[in-house]
Amino acid sequence: MAEKLSAVKGMNDILPPDSARWEWLEDKVRSLMGRFAFRNIRTPIVEPTQLFVRGTGETTDIVEKEMYSFEDRLNGEQLTLRPENTPGVVRAAIEHNLTYDGGKRLWYTGPMFRHERPQRGRYRQFYQLGAEILGFPGPEADAELMVLAHTLLAELGLRNVRVEMNSLGLPAERRAHREALVAYFEQHAGLLDADAQRRLHTNPLRILDTKNPAMQEMVRAAPQLLSYLGDGSRRHLETVQSLLDACGVAWTINPRLVRGLDYYSHTVFEFVTDELGAQGTLCGGGRYDGLFEILGGKPTPAVGWGMGLERVLELLAAQAGAFEPPAPHAYAIVPAPEALPVAMKTLQALRAAGVSVQMHAGTGEGMGSMKSQFKKADASGARHALIFGADEILTGQLTLKSLRDGQGAQSQRPLADPQAWAAELLR
Ligand code: ATP
Ligand code: MG
Repeated sequence: MAEKLSAVKGMNDILPPDSARWEWLEDKVRSLMGRFAFRNIRTPIVEPTQLFVRGTGETTDIVEKEMYSFEDRLNGEQLTLRPENTPGVVRAAIEHNLTYDGGKRLWYTGPMFRHERPQRGRYRQFYQLGAEILGFPGPEADAELMVLAHTLLAELGLRNVRVEMNSLGLPAERRAHREALVAYFEQHAGLLDADAQRRLHTNPLRILDTKNPAMQEMVRAAPQLLSYLGDGSRRHLETVQSLLDACGVAWTINPRLVRGLDYYSHTVFEFVTDELGAQGTLCGGGRYDGLFEILGGKPTPAVGWGMGLERVLELLAAQAGAFEPPAPHAYAIVPAPEALPVAMKTLQALRAAGVSVQMHAGTGEGMGSMKSQFKKADASGARHALIFGADEILTGQLTLKSLRDGQGAQSQRPLADPQAWAAELLR
């Protein structure tokens, strides 16, 4: 036998019955996005590496060590599997001039790729759902997006998810804070780990994000960006907060919530749970008013979030328990091979009428005994069996048998007119 191949480490197959839960989630998402009047956008999985170097940021973990980059063998172009979708959305918005006639509300979902150490809630290929509002500078856009994420998690039935937020103010306010921060860290240089020392002059804000327990106390006492905010930034933050209050979304301020990149401004937020161990951030987002310019576009305010769908489904499994995968309404049993054409034609009519019906398939030696076909029908979870036998073909009536009422009640239905009885199968 040839050697077996396995999936790439950290990249998962999503198999039935689990895939049914993914479909359920995707249906919920699509319905909610429709009600918020967000439009779907789909951008390529492969983008020029430069898009992420500029758009995600050279000093981020993603660009420093997590990207799957490669050279196009045919033309030498430097390419990367997208680690996130915001830069792709902004590139597409600039390329197609999407905001020329006003702001846009967009959403996307799909696989993202990051070379990380695989563990629960952290994979090398994972799915993100994202929502972006392009072209609106006001705090109401920030609040709307946060309300959207909150509503989605609530409609999925998730509990114990808290909303943490902070303001990064404006670039000038951040510069003043940054100076104070660097001075503070320099005073405590002895406590900085290697990562922090490296970031001290490239991206000191990210030091606030450290997970190193030895640095927690020192970091907690560091100068806070909030106290460097001007009136405008403060008002922006307070408006977001009061709109969240109006919509019943509870929030807390986390002064250490940061994105260490210059194109961010004002609101940043995360949706966090304590029920998934270290990978407890379900959703992260913020306002990135400077990104369009960095990617060569006209200044365009924008705000968005990304949500990790594996984490959402893991929390759902923890809180809601096992998921019943959907069963077909009916199962077609075909003891007589000569009945196959009629059977398959009838199923087509039923499916057109909205019935989900599973066709029995044979073993190569015919269709198998009635008994073995009934076993398969039971295992499928269907409520009804449709029997297409030799008698049925002669009389022009199929036998409809209930698989779920305990008595196996059976009766005949005209083969010539499936539309007349299709609706019964839906019940
Ligand atoms: P973390 O601190 O957990 O690495 P991040 O700041 O890198 O998160 P973002 O880039 O903000 O994450 O991505 C948004 C969301 O995507 C995260 O909140 C998380 O739910 C999910 N996510 C990020 N990286 C992964 C991954 N490797 N595997 C699964 N989900 C992920
Ligand atoms: Mg990360």
